Amino acid sequence: MSILLKGKPVADKISESIIKEVDDLKSKGINPKLAIVRVGSRSDDLAYERGALKRCEKVGIDTIVKELKEDITQEEFIQELRKINKDNDIHGILVFRPLPKQLNEEVIKYEIAPEKDIDCFSPINAAKLLEGDETGFPPCTPMAVIEILKHYEIPMEGKKAIVLGRSMVVGKPAALLLLKENATVTVCHSRTKDLPQVAKEADILVAAIGKDRFVKEDFVKEDTVVIDVGINVDEEGNMHGDVDFEDVENKVKMITPVPRGVGSVTTSILAKHVVKACKLQNNI
Ligand code: NAP
Repeated sequence: MSILLKGKPVADKISESIIKEVDDLKSKGINPKLAIVRVGSRSDDLAYERGALKRCEKVGIDTIVKELKEDITQEEFIQELRKINKDNDIHGILVFRPLPKQLNEEVIKYEIAPEKDIDCFSPINAAKLLEGDETGFPPCTPMAVIEILKHYEIPMEGKKAIVLGRSMVVGKPAALLLLKENATVTVCHSRTKDLPQVAKEADILVAAIGKDRFVKEDFVKEDTVVIDVGINVDEEGNMHGDVDFEDVENKVKMITPVPRGVGSVTTSILAKHVVKACKLQNNI
């Protein structure tokens, strides 16, 4: 039987320390505040928004939701973003992506103020991640992966970490963050040959490919630690990871569940980044 790496204890611990930091900021007359920018009302955005608002409320962070119409033009969107950039009461901005087709993310990503960009939309924060510059904001989900590994005292240094997926949202940043922790990192993608054999070499296997229950028992060995980032919802509305939990569960050392794994830590990282942004903006 493998050890289950649940997200809640990790999220609770992070929240505890945020509450103290927020209290401290409020005692100085500073109220950390997050702005969520949502275009339209996609169900996955709304689900994440509910989680983020709940987490922020729990730790004392103020929030506003800027809900923009689905057919907003690029120019209108940029005007809205610039207003939020300039609002000194707002310290963190989360823009839900992907944006609708008429909005060009390749242009908009240069518009968000890097110091408020708490989920690594801006190329400045991507560059800071690459450089290991800690004044930046890596994306929240890969940060959640690292926090889980740290919380459960799973050593990363010198370990072989294999990341399945190379997106800018999860795979690549997860690989860079694992490298920063001194793991030896391999990144796999859709053109990787002999994927199960490559994956089987991992001490830490991070699955972020967006394919329902794709990782099977032939991808793992008995001392693998599996971190499943995947969120896939089947026709009955049940959530599954990128790892076939039932197939793999008893074949590995440790594994995160889906749901109640990585996803439950992500909003606490978001809140942590709002506080970090607030402190940096106030020279604290
Ligand atoms: P994505 O942008 O679709 O990227 C998927 C990556 O997986 C790509 O690099 C792709 O390779 C690779 N891939 C696809 N099929 C593959 C295969 N058969 N073999 C090997 N590699 C394959 O997805 P994403 O945004 O990174 O998200 C990944 C997963 O994480 C999804 O399930 C998503 O729902 C989940 N997610 C969870 C959270 C959370 O809070 N827990 C947050 C964000 C995302 P190529 O580059 O070669 O195409």
